[in-house]
Amino acid sequence: MLKNKEDIKYIACPKLEAYAATSHAFLTRTGGTSGGVFSSLNFDLRDGDNESNVKYNKTKAAKVFGFNPLNLITVNQVHGDNIFIIDKKTPLSKKVSADAIITNLKGIAIAVLTADCVPIILLDPLNTAIAIVHAGWKGTLKKIAQKTILSMSEKFGTSVETLVAAIGPCIGECCYNVAESVVKLFKNTFPDYKEFIKLEKSDWKLDLKRANYIQLVCAGLLKKNIWTANHCTSCRKDLFFSYRRDNKKTGRQMSFVMINK
Ligand SMILES: [Zn+2]
Repeated sequence: MLKNKEDIKYIACPKLEAYAATSHAFLTRTGGTSGGVFSSLNFDLRDGDNESNVKYNKTKAAKVFGFNPLNLITVNQVHGDNIFIIDKKTPLSKKVSADAIITNLKGIAIAVLTADCVPIILLDPLNTAIAIVHAGWKGTLKKIAQKTILSMSEKFGTSVETLVAAIGPCIGECCYNVAESVVKLFKNTFPDYKEFIKLEKSDWKLDLKRANYIQLVCAGLLKKNIWTANHCTSCRKDLFFSYRRDNKKTGRQMSFVMINK
């Protein structure tokens, strides 16, 4: 559901909104200060935006959504399956390489940056623990979402029956052609790959949202506890950065979740 706070448009998951102890948002590209291809709410320096713009955007999002910018935790996303576990002993100043973050600490906004890949938020309402996942096709293939759930179970005693998941905006199958070599990799790992990969004329189309939805169901989540955003980052240039559409030079939108203080 598209909403706005001040001039920042964002997508919120109604299932997560039902839990007042947490805050979350899948931010769009609107309401920031960056220009050109980074216009305007860009959170990443990778493709050459300047530091002061990104800092302004972080500070603004923090103010609008009510978290301390110093407690905004992102990771160096590497399309792997490493999970960053944040507990009381974790030093927050050091940037680690990972593609998912989990915590049960209050006031820590855990976030991923995306421009086509899928951001996924997980909430364990019983143990008040949260996770955020970055899954492109490589992370999806490595089952990063499933591994994050396992990590939550080990660390916080999370049970999948009560876990709530929100699959955020990413590139849709309408715009996501993949090479046959990628299809083969999925074929080898997912017996039900035909549920999310289709041959259309001569193009292989990958539905990342569906692939991750199936992965969550296979992990044991109840279908009623999974919500999926319906926007395609490539189709909606007005709302989202898209790595593919913008020829690999673009900004990154942020998605975050936090246990409120
Ligand atoms: Zn599309």
